[in-house]
Amino acid sequence: MFEEVKSYTESHHVRLVAVTKTRSLDDILKLYQAGQRDMGENRVQELLSKKEQLPEDIRWHLIGHLQSNKVKSIVPFIHLIHSVDSLDLYQTINKEAKKAGRVIDVLLQFYIATEETKFGLDYEEALEIVSYYQNNTENFVRIVGVMGMASLTENENQVRKEFSTLKTYFDRLKETYFKEDVSFREISMGMSSDFKTAITEGSTMVRVGSLLFR
Ligand SMILES: *Cc1c(COP(=O)(O)O)cnc(C)c1O
Repeated sequence: MFEEVKSYTESHHVRLVAVTKTRSLDDILKLYQAGQRDMGENRVQELLSKKEQLPEDIRWHLIGHLQSNKVKSIVPFIHLIHSVDSLDLYQTINKEAKKAGRVIDVLLQFYIATEETKFGLDYEEALEIVSYYQNNTENFVRIVGVMGMASLTENENQVRKEFSTLKTYFDRLKETYFKEDVSFREISMGMSSDFKTAITEGSTMVRVGSLLFR
């Protein structure tokens, strides 16, 4: 379904991040040959090994939980980290980015689902990071938006409500802290089962995996 998803997202001016976790190099190359350049992985080890074997101009997105001790290995090349979920992690990325002489774009991952297992910040925790960020004179991290995962449920109203909550968080942050900052503009939400709902609720970037390979 790659072509369908691609043309749907293009016509809605939303960036498609192809989630390639567990997929073979051949599968990924097929997407690449069809023009896809943004690829997302949720595990660092898998990301590193695939990156090494695939074309240089792929923009790699880290979409899963990131442990501090793995930051160093992705900082030299990562295009966007979707999953900043603690001040600690933000600080580690900043430190490693400085060493590498690179500015790393990141998203703040919010907890919007009702499931206990999902990672993410609440609004207060996000404010703590934003306030640290805005007072930091040596920033090698650039916060460019927010990310969230909705509950895994058939209940579309529930999912819609969760995406709408994330959009509200984004709007509040934008209005209060990033009004003049044009690079703070991304809302990463929507997966195979719910990307159309996410787009209706204001997504700028969807992370679609399984559906692309059907
Ligand atoms: C796996 C994954 C996706 C894609 O899920 P699909 O249901 O396969 O589209 C999106 N975001 C994150 C964080 C993921 O881990």
